[in-house]
Formats: sequence, structure tokens, C-alpha cells
Amino acid sequence: MSRNLSGKTVLITGASAGIGRSTAFEFARSSSQNLKLILTARRVERLEEIKKEIANEYGTGVKVHIVKLDVSNPEEIDEFVRALPEEFRGVDILVNNAGFMSGVEQPPDVPRQVIQNVYATNVFGVINMTQAILPIFKARPDGGKGDVIMLGSIASRDPYVGGTIYCSSKAAVAAFTDALRKEMIGTRIRVMTVDPGQVQTEFNLNKFRGDQSKVDESYADRVPLTPDDVAEVIVFAASRNENVVVADTLLFPSYQA
Ligand code: NDP
Repeated sequence: MSRNLSGKTVLITGASAGIGRSTAFEFARSSSQNLKLILTARRVERLEEIKKEIANEYGTGVKVHIVKLDVSNPEEIDEFVRALPEEFRGVDILVNNAGFMSGVEQPPDVPRQVIQNVYATNVFGVINMTQAILPIFKARPDGGKGDVIMLGSIASRDPYVGGTIYCSSKAAVAAFTDALRKEMIGTRIRVMTVDPGQVQTEFNLNKFRGDQSKVDESYADRVPLTPDDVAEVIVFAASRNENVVVADTLLFPSYQA
């Protein structure tokens, strides 16, 4: 059974592009009468555009608050939460989406800065943001309630050549997610992860060091997942009745082994 998301406040990290952007639109589509979206990313000008598009499509039914935020910086996360306007303070759903893969992940030649950056964003960003939002869930008068949804990856289950740092970062997030889900048993806080295979986003441009022809080659004549495909599953998980935890969903394009 599904629950109505009307009245909810949804926080999405990395909402300026790809899956995060699609997830913002999918939440708006699913509950366009009374929804609040907090959209964060570093490219705030893209967030401005998304805010305008949502206002054009949904009017005042969906209120959007945008914030420039680098999740790899823990102080920025703390300041972001401290500065949330009253109207948006009651976060109900956190989507930990911000993440990236570098194109230089072959040891022993991985630059130290790449290792630091990938972990700072994909692992510490997720853990620090979750830690910052859980007190909001726990402070609810009804004893604590909320959803944390991670963007995991097939990379955590089936690590691949050229992705040593990224795959290990997603494995760390998978373990954090599963342990946190167990930690929250007995509360009304749900912890879930959606693990996609290949999705057609700017992510792949990073992976192939900005070489669009290599990205195109990687799809060949196949049809990868779209960011909308993934967003639909995220909103599906968030809109299950409270007794249901969509703990871990693996989502492949039909060609992927
Ligand atoms: P995109 O590159 O399209 O989008 C990534 C988003 O993350 C952007 O909005 C970017 O915004 C944001 N971001 C990156 N680093 C930071 C940071 N330090 N602080 C804040 N925001 C950041 O990639 P996807 O949409 O594909 O990726 C989204 C998630 O899905 C990631 O966690 C990725 O690992 C995961 N995933 C992707 C797959 C794929 O094939 N595409 C497969 C499996 C999982 P900005 O640059 O403006 O800050």
C-alpha cells in the first residue's frame, strides 16, 4: 500500500543534475498539492533553473528552497542545517544522492586528492548529512520518524576494473546503510537504498574523463537507465506505508549482467 506524501518536506543532495534533479521532479509530480523540497548542490545556478521549472509546472503546490552546499565539507553541512528556514526545518525524507566517480582510479597511480575527494563526498558526505538530519527526525513529538534513502550502486556488490576508489566508497555506504537500518529498528525511522546499474547522466562523463565519444561507446546501441527510471523507484520507496521498508533495490538496464 502507498501513503500520501502530501505535506512532506524532502531534502535531496546533488539535485542540480541527473538522478537528483529527476527525483525532485518525481516527488513534485507525486504530490503536487502540498510538498516542500530542499534542493542542494554546488552549482546553485542550476538549482535556480529547476526551482523556476517546478514553479512553472506546479505553482504554489510545491515550495522549493535551494541551497549551495558541498557535502564533502562537514562544516557546510552543519551550517546548512542550522540555517534552514523555519518553514523547511521539519525534514521528513532525506535523499543522499550527491556522489561521483573519478576517471583515474587505477592504483598505484590514483592521485591522493582523488581518493580524498571521492571518499569525502560519497562516504563522509552521506554519513555527515545523515547524522545532521537524524536529530530532526528524532525530535518529532511522536517519538521520531523519517526516511533516509541512499543512492547506492551495483558498484558495491560487483566492483569493476577502473573503479577501485568509487566501488569501495559505495561498499562503505552499503555497510553504513545496512547497519543504520538495523540501528533504527524499533523507531519509525526507515533507512533504504536504491542501487542502480548504468544510468545515462553526467556521471559517465567524469568516469570517461570528459570524453563524450567514450561515453557514447559505452552505451553502444543499448538503452541505459534514465534518471527518471531511478527517481520513480526512490519515490516508490518513500511512498510505501510505514510498515514497509524497501531496504535495498537493485535496478539494472535490461542489457546489464
Ligand atoms: P550526475 O553527475 O548527473 O549528478 C551528480 C550530482 O551530485 C550533481 O547534482 C552534483 O552537483 C552533485 N555532487 C557531486 N559532488 C558533490 C558535492 N561534493 N557536494 C554536493 N553535490 C555534489 O550523476 P548521477 O545523477 O548519475 O549520480 C547520482 C548518484 O547516483 C551518485 O551517488 C552516483 O554514485 C549514483 N549512481 C550513478 C550511476 C550512474 O550510472 N549514473 C549508477 C549507480 C549509482 P554539483 O556538481 O552541482 O555539486
